[in-house]
Amino acid sequence: MNKLSEISKTVKNQAEQFGFDACGIAQSNYLSDMENILKKWLDNGYNASMNYMKNHFEIRLNPRLLVENAMSVICLLTSYNSDVSQNAAAPKIARYALGNDYHIIIRKKLNDFFASLKKTFPQINGRGFVDSAPILEREWAVRAGLGWYGKSSAFISPVFGSFVFLSELIVNIEMEYDKPLTGNFCGACNKCIAGCPNSAITEPYVVNSQKCISYQTIENRGEINITTHGWLFGCDICLQACPYNKCAKICNREEFQPIAETLSMSFDDWENIGEDDFNKIFEKSPLMRTGYERIKRNMKNVKR
Ligand code: SF4
Ligand code: SF4
Repeated sequence: MNKLSEISKTVKNQAEQFGFDACGIAQSNYLSDMENILKKWLDNGYNASMNYMKNHFEIRLNPRLLVENAMSVICLLTSYNSDVSQNAAAPKIARYALGNDYHIIIRKKLNDFFASLKKTFPQINGRGFVDSAPILEREWAVRAGLGWYGKSSAFISPVFGSFVFLSELIVNIEMEYDKPLTGNFCGACNKCIAGCPNSAITEPYVVNSQKCISYQTIENRGEINITTHGWLFGCDICLQACPYNKCAKICNREEFQPIAETLSMSFDDWENIGEDDFNKIFEKSPLMRTGYERIKRNMKNVKR
């Protein structure tokens, strides 16, 4: 085994010890393939009001602008797949948002992992990311061989499907790199596109956020002008339609166990909840991203 592959092996072993379900490593090259794709998506206005997607265009494509002397992107995958389900009559919440906010949980794991790597490799320097900076996480995970893009534009792992959180460490040391998986994984399947109730997937791999329930119920700060089909926060329809998610490994991780109320609250409970109770129950939940007022706004559309 050469030195670079030894480094990669050590990194992956430690990632496993810190509870990551999969780890792949990519070279931190400029993402030239993504330049036109991202530009076209922005030119079409598919980012809707997410102006932050327009900002830092160059940084998004070039990890060396994020981390000086970046050499490697260590990509980490954590599954939140579980077999729990909400009360069928309740307003629907995306599965990732049923428990506590993953940013906090994964950030802690990532920091601990990085601290451990620093002990093993004193020369290592870099930065960790959990959906926290202009970085194309799915693209790095694909390059690191962890999975591929589905036509829904979601990332799909062959083992864990799409109900996964991605995070990264961009570091200044060279390693042995993984190869992207090759193949036409979606084939003739069209289930996510056909299943989207608002035709938000305008063509394979392209989502128009304006039409997407997930964007409208989480990111949009204004009025909602689409039908949200019973979704209160986020939308999992295209993920649920995907055959890869039907056979994905169920992890039922302790740290992502649902907050009991996300499963049990009825339509009336959601309509009647006061701000103090909401803030108390959902203090650590991703629902705080929208906050009480916008959850109430979303409820009006659930009713429609
Ligand atoms: S998240 Fe929902 S609305 Fe958005 S593309 Fe998927 S199915 Fe369509
Ligand atoms: S539902 Fe079918 S087309 Fe869509 S991502 Fe899954 S495999 Fe691909």
